[in-house]
Amino acid sequence: MTMAEIQLRNLSKTFDNGFRALDNLCLTVRDGEFLTVVGPSGCGKTTLLRTLAGLESPTSGEILVGDKVINHLEPKDRKMGMVFQNYALFPHLSAYDNMAFGLKARKKTKAEIQRFIQPVAQRLEIQHLLERKPNQLSGGQRQRVALGRLLAKNPSIHLLDEPLSNLDAHLRAAMRRELKILHKEYGKTTLFVTHDQTEAMTLGHRICVMKEGHIEQTGTPHEIYHEPANLFVAGFFGSPPINLVAGKVGKSSNNQSYFEGLGTALAIPDEVPPPPVGNLTLGIHAEDIEVATNTEVETGQVFELCIETIDDLGEAKIIHTKCGEAKISVRAEYHTPLKDNIIQGRFNWTKVLWFNPQTGERIP
Ligand code: ADP
Ligand code: MG
Repeated sequence: MTMAEIQLRNLSKTFDNGFRALDNLCLTVRDGEFLTVVGPSGCGKTTLLRTLAGLESPTSGEILVGDKVINHLEPKDRKMGMVFQNYALFPHLSAYDNMAFGLKARKKTKAEIQRFIQPVAQRLEIQHLLERKPNQLSGGQRQRVALGRLLAKNPSIHLLDEPLSNLDAHLRAAMRRELKILHKEYGKTTLFVTHDQTEAMTLGHRICVMKEGHIEQTGTPHEIYHEPANLFVAGFFGSPPINLVAGKVGKSSNNQSYFEGLGTALAIPDEVPPPPVGNLTLGIHAEDIEVATNTEVETGQVFELCIETIDDLGEAKIIHTKCGEAKISVRAEYHTPLKDNIIQGRFNWTKVLWFNPQTGERIP
């Protein structure tokens, strides 16, 4: 058991009005890990961070840091520092005094405070901004001051609540990179909350996916992308979103499994484990559908897709198509010949995922 490992044991939070914002969360954040918590707005991300920081008290369950239960500890005794989505800088204080605030509260001397702030300000390249008030700073600069306040305070655990969502796309990408470098340098256990799937994927060692107060899945970006626990997780990640086809798996008289759902019966090759017979939802990412050229067409392997629109990405094309009721997106090589409005699609069967259409659970 290491010093700054966090464990949530059946953590629940019901607000006074009866709303259950966190429902029985179990999660371990390893010492020094960067874990992203992602989910749609209102799923309980901020409540989770506030509960960890001690700004809300849980209704039931335990929070452990290292091997100690910390439920009863005051926020200031939790060794946690938080950056809030709106930065929460004091408007009447200079950037320097904002950064010094937590240190003053801990009774540090002027000289000590200076020693904490100076290297952090230098690291974040905000030395020239220290005398300014928040309203004299740009969004990106406020963000750096809020980060500087966290680093100067030097807590063992970093809680970051959508710190990048107020920045423009270009700055956000740059800050993602910088946060990763900072994490390497400082090595703090970090919970980073976001509603943005790309941010969650690029930043997290692991990702915890939340929905309506529940944890749907925790895993590495690779696991989340290739082995999503259910349709919600599958649908949350990837651009374009994963293709989902409602259909039916059957077996022919010669014991060949086939999938019906794209207007034709597709033979499921023997190399892949056969899915159970019955109604199933097939999931496949856009990059795992090939455009078949006429010379290689085999019956029972291809289906016709009707092109609706094409996104030109410069290095590839995303072809958005329809096949009956199903909307299918295909990521194609840039120079794939598209002679008319119909293309022949073919699945990379080893990448096909199967879901129970009733429960949404993935069938392994
Ligand atoms: P997120 O950060 O994921 O957008 P929040 O944690 O802020 O979500 O909120 C989760 C849910 O809890 C929301 O439905 C929100 O309206 C509700 N909520 C948040 N704070 C309170 C409160 N003090 N009293 C009642 N409901 C709240
Ligand atoms: Mg929030």
